[in-house]
Amino acid sequence: MLLVALALAQNGFADLVVVNGKVWTDGALTKHTVVAVKGGRVLALGTDAKKFTGPKTKRVDAKGNWILPGLIDAHTHIADRCVGIAFGLDLRPAKSKEEFVALVKGQADKLGKNDWIEGRGWSVESYPDKTPPSKEWIDAVSGGRPAFLVRMDGHSGLANSKALALAGITKDGPADPPGGRIERDPVTNEPTGLLADAAMGLIKVPTASMELRNRALPLVIDMAHSHGVTAVGDIMRPASYSLWQSYAKSSRKSFRVGAYVNADSPKTVQWLSGQPKVAGWLEPRGVKMYMDGSLGSRSAYMFEPFTKPLPTQPADWKGLAFPGATDGTYAAIIQESAKRKTQVIIHAIGDRANHAVLNLFQKAPNLKSLRFRVEHVQHLKPADINRFGALGVIPSMQPYHKADDGRYCEDVIGAERSRTSYTFKSLLNSKANLAFGSDFPVVTINPWLGIETAVTGEIEGGKKWMTQENITLNQALDSYTRKAAFAIKMETQIGRLAPGYRGDILVLDRSLKVDGSNLKGTKPAVVIVDGRVVR
Ligand SMILES: [Zn+2]
Repeated sequence: MLLVALALAQNGFADLVVVNGKVWTDGALTKHTVVAVKGGRVLALGTDAKKFTGPKTKRVDAKGNWILPGLIDAHTHIADRCVGIAFGLDLRPAKSKEEFVALVKGQADKLGKNDWIEGRGWSVESYPDKTPPSKEWIDAVSGGRPAFLVRMDGHSGLANSKALALAGITKDGPADPPGGRIERDPVTNEPTGLLADAAMGLIKVPTASMELRNRALPLVIDMAHSHGVTAVGDIMRPASYSLWQSYAKSSRKSFRVGAYVNADSPKTVQWLSGQPKVAGWLEPRGVKMYMDGSLGSRSAYMFEPFTKPLPTQPADWKGLAFPGATDGTYAAIIQESAKRKTQVIIHAIGDRANHAVLNLFQKAPNLKSLRFRVEHVQHLKPADINRFGALGVIPSMQPYHKADDGRYCEDVIGAERSRTSYTFKSLLNSKANLAFGSDFPVVTINPWLGIETAVTGEIEGGKKWMTQENITLNQALDSYTRKAAFAIKMETQIGRLAPGYRGDILVLDRSLKVDGSNLKGTKPAVVIVDGRVVR
């Protein structure tokens, strides 16, 4: 009897209490100071830790700082890119052509003579000379190795002469693939080395082994934790799903994934529906397609021409639309997904691309219940803004992209179209479920940079830009918690601190100011996943 009584008393106690904090959840700061966790789930919120504290209860002192639900990044590419993230060449730090070339040389010197030089993250928009790079930049420092360096946005890449030769790209051909463009010298027709969107697929960089990816994955997850991200909507090739599967089955798992795979036919939808899930950790959610390219690569699909196309593009250049949108492929994938109640998420950056995706989605039966998403939603025709809320289509946006694009957006599409770019506030006003993410590794997974951009309008270089679309700190955090959870269909498990929810909890290193004035440098002091301190 005594043992039973003890066991019952023990049952009332939390495994862990976070005390002495300011609990933020559901879009606002609460009056609570304590979160109690038991069995991996939130037991209660309160102001008095004593009633949850038994002899074995662990205590985490928040030291007066904010306590948040673990942040959720609705759009990442971790499974596909983890090796590059953990071990590859990051060109983002380069601030000039000389630094770019030096970084490539440094990487080449570390490699075997037959290895590919792989890198990503470059963007010449901030260089003193903004001339796009060409193969000549890197041929001399490659040491005969093939090189392929992907631009920051992932929508164009620079190949050197060796990589072009391996792909059979010469001045005589091949022709541009549908949805892609091989940049060529207008006089000699010689490829410059720059390949946009579908043309990037002509370069066959060998994929990393599963062994290497298994080694890289925990390093990348630790990187995500270090910024407070505990769950993601990860977008990948179907073959990468098994990487997450083995992770989700491991005993040390501490990261949750809603999985989206690239689809080229309705068969992918059927395939995904048959994939096993690990409840709460890995859940197959839907398929991803592309409608267009990006602003930086001038391959976003626009109603009007770019005001400043690349030197090799024609003067009336309006970007690229992927053929699947018009040849019936996407429509068939949408029908199959609607039937199976799985999600469709489509990349759309240009105003015409967004318009076309909304039109495609609109044909799906029961659209409102399907949680279809448009990824990026960067540039909108004013009349399309309210369609997101009205149709129940989720705008899945990456606020930190605004900080990058804001530097040159008006230059390439003009002031008028820039005003309806990154329309966070207008989309919220349309009652749309605005979900935030990073597009990692296109930019860092650090959500605090994007939150700051969304709240203050500050772009790279320190200028404030298009501040009429600024949202509040509460709204930005909501888009990175509850609303991102809704976007990956995990809103009954994560994204809130409430009894029964998974114990994914951040203790920040500070008490945030509501005007966003002390966001810079914010990071979690303690990260708890499923009730366990992971960092
Ligand atoms: Zn992406």
